[in-house]
Amino acid sequence: MRRSDKEIHDASLLQSVLDEAPVCRLGLCRDNVPYVVPMNFAYRDNTIYLHAAPEGKKLDMIRANPLVCFEVEHRTELVSAEAPCNWGMRYYSIIGWGNASLIEDQAGKAEALNVIMEKYAGQGAYSFPVDALEKIVVIKIRVTGMTGKKSGY
Ligand SMILES: Cc1cc2nc3c(=O)[nH]c(=O)nc-3n(C[C@H](O)[C@H](O)[C@H](O)COP(=O)(O)OP(=O)(O)OC[C@H]3O[C@@H](n4cnc5c(N)ncnc54)[C@H](O)[C@@H]3O)c2cc1C
Repeated sequence: MRRSDKEIHDASLLQSVLDEAPVCRLGLCRDNVPYVVPMNFAYRDNTIYLHAAPEGKKLDMIRANPLVCFEVEHRTELVSAEAPCNWGMRYYSIIGWGNASLIEDQAGKAEALNVIMEKYAGQGAYSFPVDALEKIVVIKIRVTGMTGKKSGY
C-alpha cells in the first residue's frame, strides 16, 4: 500500500470493519469482462457468506470463474474544507480476494443464513422455512487475502 501509514494491521479492527460494514461489493470476472455487484454479507472464520436467488448473472459468473475480489467500507464521512484540495473522506475499508463456492444443501444454507442474521439482527438461533431455503443459494467465499485501510480516524 503506497500510504503505509493508513494500512490497518490490527486483526481485531479488520474484524470489526467486516462486522459493521452493511454492504459488500463483490467483484467478478468472466471472459475478461468485470462485474461488481453490491450485496449484504457476513464474515466469520475467514469466510464471507452472501445469499441470493438461485439464478442470475453473478451466479453464472461464479460458476465460470470462482476467483473473486470484494470491497467493504465503514464509517464513511465527507470532510469539507475551505480549499477544494483539502476536501476528503474519512473511512475504514477492506479489499480482499477469495474463492467462491455455492452452498446448495438445506442444512448448509440455514447455517450460513444464521451467520448473516446474527450480523444484522443480533445473536440467536433463527429458523428458516424449507420453502424459503429452496428459493435461495448461499455464496461462500474462502478469503485468501485482504488489506485494510483507514483514513481520517
Ligand atoms: C445495498 C444493497 C444490498 C443488496 N443485497 C443483496 C443481497 O444480499 N443478495 C442479493 O442477491 N442481492 C442483493 N442486492 C441486489 C444485488 O445488487 C443485485 O441486484 C442482485 O443480486 C441481482 O444480481 P445478478 O447479478 O443476479 O443480476 P441479474 O438480475 O442477473 O441482472 C444482471 C444485470 O442487471 C444489472 N444489475 C444487477 N444488479 C444491479 C444493481 N444492484 N444495480 C444496478 N444494476 C444492476 C446489471 O447491469 C447486470 O448486468 C443488494 C443491492 C443493494 C444496492
